[in-house]
Amino acid sequence: MKKSIIIIGAGMGGMSAGIYGQMNGYETQIFEIHTKPGGQCTSWKRKGYTFEPCIHHFFGCKPGSSVNQMWHELGALPRELVNIEECTATASPNGKMFVDYYSLDRLKETLLKLSQADAKMIEQYIGAIKVFANDKVDDAINSGSLWKMIPIFLWKPSILKWMKMNMRSYAEQFSDPFLRKAFAELIYSNPDAPLFFHLLRHAGGMNGDIQWPISGAGEFAKSIERRYLALGGKLHYRSRVQKILVENDRAVGIKLADGSEYRADIIISNADGRKTILDMLDSKYINETVRGYCAPIADETPFAVNVCLGIDRDLSGEPSSLVLLLNQPVTIANHQYENIEAQVYGFDRSMAPAGKGTIKVELWASYSYWKQLYNADREKYKQEKQRVAEQVIEILESHFRGIKNQVEVIDVYTLMTWERYMGGTQGWFNLPNRKFDFSMKEDLADKKSKTTLPGLANFYFVGV
Ligand SMILES: Cc1cc2nc3c(=O)[nH]c(=O)nc-3n(C[C@H](O)[C@H](O)[C@H](O)COP(=O)(O)OP(=O)(O)OC[C@H]3O[C@@H](n4cnc5c(N)ncnc54)[C@H](O)[C@@H]3O)c2cc1C
Repeated sequence: MKKSIIIIGAGMGGMSAGIYGQMNGYETQIFEIHTKPGGQCTSWKRKGYTFEPCIHHFFGCKPGSSVNQMWHELGALPRELVNIEECTATASPNGKMFVDYYSLDRLKETLLKLSQADAKMIEQYIGAIKVFANDKVDDAINSGSLWKMIPIFLWKPSILKWMKMNMRSYAEQFSDPFLRKAFAELIYSNPDAPLFFHLLRHAGGMNGDIQWPISGAGEFAKSIERRYLALGGKLHYRSRVQKILVENDRAVGIKLADGSEYRADIIISNADGRKTILDMLDSKYINETVRGYCAPIADETPFAVNVCLGIDRDLSGEPSSLVLLLNQPVTIANHQYENIEAQVYGFDRSMAPAGKGTIKVELWASYSYWKQLYNADREKYKQEKQRVAEQVIEILESHFRGIKNQVEVIDVYTLMTWERYMGGTQGWFNLPNRKFDFSMKEDLADKKSKTTLPGLANFYFVGV
C-alpha cells in the first residue's frame, strides 16, 4: 500500500513537496486556507489590470542548471519568458538617470556618460559582474559549501572582499555624488543589502538565468498546481489547519478549523513556522534553537505596504524597476523615505489592456502601526491606505508627468492583507528570526538546516 502524506499549505514549498511526493509513489493531499495556489507567489486582476505582489527576479531560466530542471519537473517551465534589459534604475529629482543595464557594453557606456572620473571604478564593477557570471562561482555560492568556495577565493581573492561589502560601502567608492547615491539604492532601495547579492542578480540577468515569467506569479503558481493535479494529488482549498494531531510523539494527522480530522503517515507543514510550532503543535516540540527562530521579527519590514496602480499610459519604454530619489524626505504612514522604488510592468503586455500599464510601489512599514489601525477602526485603515496611494501618486507625478490624471485603478495591500489570506504571523514576513547573511545560504541549499522538530517523528517542514 502507498504511504500517505498530508501537506499544510499550497505555497511553492507545499506544492513542490506534493509533486515530488506523487512522483515518488506517495499518496499526497494538500490543505490550503486560501482559494487559490501559490501562497506568497500570487497575483490578481482588477478591471483588466494584473497586480503582481511577488516576483522581482525569477532565477533558473537558463537551461542546464539544477534549478531550471526543477522548474521543468514542477511544471513551471516551459513558459513564455521575457528577457528584461536592465537590472534596475535610479533617477534623481532633476532628471539624471542611471540604468543598470544587463549588457556590459551598454552599462559601461551609461556609467561613463554619467562620470568619466569614475572610469577605474566602473571597470572594477564590470569586472566583478563578470566574475559572478562564472558558472563555477554561481554553483559554489549556491551550494553553500566552504570547500567549493576555497578554489574560487584562490582564483579571485577580491570575491572575499566583495562578499563582505554592502551596497552603501561599495557605492561610497564612486567619486560622482549622483552615482554614490544611486548605486547604494539599487537593491530594493536598501543600502544595507549585501553587494554580492546584487552582483549575482546582475550576472543572472546578463546570462539569461533571470527572466520574467509572462503574466507574473499567479499564472506561474497555477501551472504548478496543474502539474500537481495531473500527477493525482488532491488539493483542498478553504481548509485552515488548526492542529497537528500527535500520538506517542508521532505526527498522525491534522484537525481543520471546522473540526474535521484527516490522517496520514507523514505530515508536512508549508505554513508559517511560528504558527506551526507554537499553535498547531502547542510549543511541545521545541528547543533553544527552534525557540530562537520563533522570536519576534523586526517591526519595520520592507514590502509591507504596496500600492498598485492601473494606468492609462503606455509604459513599455520605461525601465522595469526604478528608484526615484526625492528632493526632500517624505513621511508616508509613519515611515520616512528619501526615495521610493517603483516596479513598472511595461515589459509584459499581458498585464494591462492594450496601450496601458501597471506600476507597483513597495514601501517599508511598521507592522504594529498597521495592525493597530486595522484592529481599531477598519474605516480609518481604509482611509490611511487611500492617503498612502495619493502620496505615492504625487511622487510618481514628479517623474512621470501627467500620470496623476491617468490612474484608473488603485489597489493598496498591507501586511494585514497577507495575514487575512495566508494566516501568517506578520503578514508574509514569516521568516525565521535569523540574520540574512552568507551562512543562511547554507540553509537555503539545505546543507545544514533541519526540516524536522526535536522529539517529533513523521513530521517535516518545507518552504520559507
Ligand atoms: C513581496 C514579495 C516579493 C518577493 N519577491 C521574490 C522574488 O523576486 N524572487 C523570489 O525567488 N522570491 C520572492 N519572494 C519570496 C517567495 O515568494 C517566497 O519565498 C515563496 O513564495 C515562499 O513559498 P513558501 O511555500 O515557503 O511559503 P508561502 O508562500 O508562505 O506558502 C505557505 C502557504 O501555506 C498556507 N497556510 C498557512 N497557514 C495555513 C494553515 N493553518 N492551514 C492551511 N494552509 C495554511 C498559506 O495560505 C500559503 O499558501 C517574494 C515574496 C514577497 C512576499
